[in-house]
Parts: sequence; C-alpha cells; structure tokens
Amino acid sequence: MHGLVLRLTDYGESDQIASLFLREQGVISAIAKGIKRSKHRFPHHLEPFSVYTFSLSKKPTHRLYFIKAADPTEAFGEIADNIQKIALLHYTFELILTTVKEGEPHRELYDLIITAFRRLCAVDDLIPIRFYLEIHIMRLLGFTPDFEACLTCKQPVKRGEHNRFNPRRGGFLCEKCATGPEKALSFAVTAESSGILHYLKQCPLNAAPRIRISANARREIAALLGAFTTQQLEHTFKTLSFLNEVSL
Ligand SMILES: [Zn+2]
Repeated sequence: MHGLVLRLTDYGESDQIASLFLREQGVISAIAKGIKRSKHRFPHHLEPFSVYTFSLSKKPTHRLYFIKAADPTEAFGEIADNIQKIALLHYTFELILTTVKEGEPHRELYDLIITAFRRLCAVDDLIPIRFYLEIHIMRLLGFTPDFEACLTCKQPVKRGEHNRFNPRRGGFLCEKCATGPEKALSFAVTAESSGILHYLKQCPLNAAPRIRISANARREIAALLGAFTTQQLEHTFKTLSFLNEVSL
C-alpha cells in the first residue's frame, strides 16, 4: 500500500514509530522494528520526502501496525533541497496529523497532496501552490472558505473592490456589513488578493503556479488563510510561523 511518512519518533535503541498517511487507510501508527540496525530488512531510512510502498501487518488486539518492508517508489528530491519547500511539506503534514482521525481514509486529500508535491518539485516560487493547498486541504476537511458572497447580506462579493475576510466565520464581508466588531475581527482584502483567492478556489492545481502575486498580496493572503486555518481548526500550528518566516 502507498503512503507518506508524516512523523517519525525513535523508540528504544533500534526501533522507530511512524505516523503514516496511506492512500487507502488514512493516518495510521506503525512500528519499524530494528530499522536502525537491520540494513537487510530496511535498506532505506524512512524520511518525509518519499512515497513508499509499505508491507504492513497488525494483530487484531494491537493499535500499532508492524512495518515489514518499506520500498521508496517516488522521491521528492527538489523539496528536500529547499528550505521553503521543506517548511511547506511540514505544515501540510501538521495539518493532516491535527485533523485526520486514525483509520479514516481520505483518498482525495492524499491525491491532492501527492499531486501538489510533484508540482512543487518543478517550480521556483512555492507561494501559489502553498495558497492552493491551504484552501483545498481545508475544503476537503469540510471547512470551505466562502469567497463568493458576503456572509451577512449574501450579496455577491465584487472582485474589483476591496472587502474584508472574517476567519472565524470563514468568508468575505462587504464594506457595508463589515462595521463595528465585525470590522475589528476581520482582515482587509485588496482587490488583487480577492481575485487570487477566488481563482485558486476554482482552478485546477496545474494552473496555480502560473499566477503572479505581488509582495503585498502574498503577505495579505498568508495572514488571512493562516488565521482562517488556525481559528477553524482551533489549533496553533508551530510549522506555520516557520513557513511564514522562510517564505514571505
Ligand atoms: Zn454585506
């Protein structure tokens, strides 16, 4: 079965415990017994920049799977060589580890991440893929942001105009409705950022790397999507501040 290694913890002198994201089973915990000394059973180390074909077994009474073998089938070498891309990979992994329950399959989410990592290897600028991932991971987890209409008056949001975004409510507000406390809780969104968010929500992943994003819109969208994710999932992501530090 195909999967990614989201997290790896040393266990005793020769074992490691891994959180795996498998296409068919979702997130599972597994132990690689003897991985630190058996070159015969584990000719490769487990690491986050590869897709593996795992051979697993499990006793019905145990929560942990047993990794019998792990063969790398695809490597994301260009991610491993770039600190910004590494930071995005770890943020993506923290999002999955925080939200996906063990044993719940999420095939669409898995496919999105694999496709995004492949694209990420081929681009110099990771920001469009980063924003695409943030929007669509949240959508697949059931937290779709609303960029189409004002949350309060339901009027379509005019893309050529400035408006605001409320991360707690998960959508845009027109200037008329964003007053008082609503204004204090929301982020200003320029016309450029509004258009980019709209486009990224409905375009295919392959189209994302072609869009140009100004320095101002990068900061604006990163802040708004970061607040959206943090507030909707009620979790502070350690990997997000690092990602912002190295990529903005
Ligand atoms: Zn309104």
